Amino acid sequence: MRLILLGPPGAGKGTQSLRLVEHHGIPQLSTGDMLRSAVQSGSPLGLRVKDIMANGELVPDAIVVQIVAERVEEPDARKGFILDGFPRTVPQAEALGNMLREKMLGLDAVLQLQVDESILLSRIEKRALETVGGARADDNAEALKKRLRIYHEQTEPLVNYYASRGLLVPIDGMKPIDEVSEDIERELNIRMAVRGA
Ligand code: AMP
Repeated sequence: MRLILLGPPGAGKGTQSLRLVEHHGIPQLSTGDMLRSAVQSGSPLGLRVKDIMANGELVPDAIVVQIVAERVEEPDARKGFILDGFPRTVPQAEALGNMLREKMLGLDAVLQLQVDESILLSRIEKRALETVGGARADDNAEALKKRLRIYHEQTEPLVNYYASRGLLVPIDGMKPIDEVSEDIERELNIRMAVRGA
């Protein structure tokens, strides 16, 4: 199964990804995690993206596309994967489409986690308080505002992009975590059953 989790910062993509990992035994491919570990390791890539990330801006498409292209080649990604935080722009979505087409593969679903903006702000504030020490440089009010604006401008067009390809599965991300997971599993079952029929 190859899935995308789409949604604004604080929508619960990371949380739901981990549940999908447990449930389906396929890896979570989080570009945010990959970039954060590059920053922590102090690699040339990390040095290049550190300030961009701390400011809440998007890392250039070419860089993230390259990271994902390498990651999907690893053996554990052969049985499928959950993309968390990628694609975030239409060019990234197109690059992903090309990458998969070359392997004669397709996506099964794009899970769109829908959460009202007022709830996002309080969730991110909570995450910032909970992760004292290891706090994310971009979990502050200013960077968050920028991340939300960039989400609307650059990432939200992917909703129509994937809807027009019949892949979009809207999910109410404001329900309790367990209910969101149940809704996701139900929707996936329906889609996989239709596919298998
Ligand atoms: P995330 O953990 O998904 O919220 O990502 C944290 C930060 O990493 C983002 O605010 C961006 O600076 C960068 N990033 C992660 N994924 C992407 C992507 N697909 N395209 C561009 N930048 C990304």
